[in-house]
Amino acid sequence: MPHQFTIKGLDKNKYPEVYDSISRVMGYYGIDKISFKYPVFFKKLNLIKGQSLMGDSIKISERSLSFLESLDYEERDSVLAHELSHVYNRDEVLYTLIFVFLIFPLFIFELSLLILSSLLLFGDIFIISLIIAGMLVFILSVRFFMWVSRNSEIRCDRDAVLKIKRPEAFKRALISYYKNIDRSQGRPGIPVILFSLLLLVFYFVAGSSHPTLKERIEHMDHVGKAIVQQ
Ligand SMILES: [Zn+2]
Repeated sequence: MPHQFTIKGLDKNKYPEVYDSISRVMGYYGIDKISFKYPVFFKKLNLIKGQSLMGDSIKISERSLSFLESLDYEERDSVLAHELSHVYNRDEVLYTLIFVFLIFPLFIFELSLLILSSLLLFGDIFIISLIIAGMLVFILSVRFFMWVSRNSEIRCDRDAVLKIKRPEAFKRALISYYKNIDRSQGRPGIPVILFSLLLLVFYFVAGSSHPTLKERIEHMDHVGKAIVQQ
């Protein structure tokens, strides 16, 4: 009996290849229902995101839909197998728990300390030490979150290679995805440079949610070898 599935919200006629791939990959994971979300405000950005908090869903921007349509089916299945690994393993639930019970309370605690110190006790050495300690703990909690996220990403890459068994195709897709950057504005001007500086500062403080391209490619090679040896 063929795998029964429902895909809500994706135009089959407009994006036939993506529709076909998603239904195939849903079969590999045994997922029978997924709703498709189209983020209107991020049309021009690269955005592909598997989510699992309020029902299983996948978010793909218009730009990324065209990108996925342009890939061959092994590349596209691999990318979607990565996203459906996020869905299958309910990564978004884990991220939300960390945010609600760790990052957000620490943020509120730090904010209240800052307000308190400026209102009442400015200059009090105890409060200032507490603010600095709180800030360090807050930074550590964000870094912990990023560490959890990086681990999930590696697991999703591994699942994609194990399910689709085409590490070379997945590597090609990933490299094309990283190259699919909007350069319509030409050379960077001062605002763009300042913004990238801000991103670098954020990266320095918080770390990154994704492993680097090099790490991901090396990991895929590693898993690829394990498949060959089977
Ligand atoms: Zn991912």
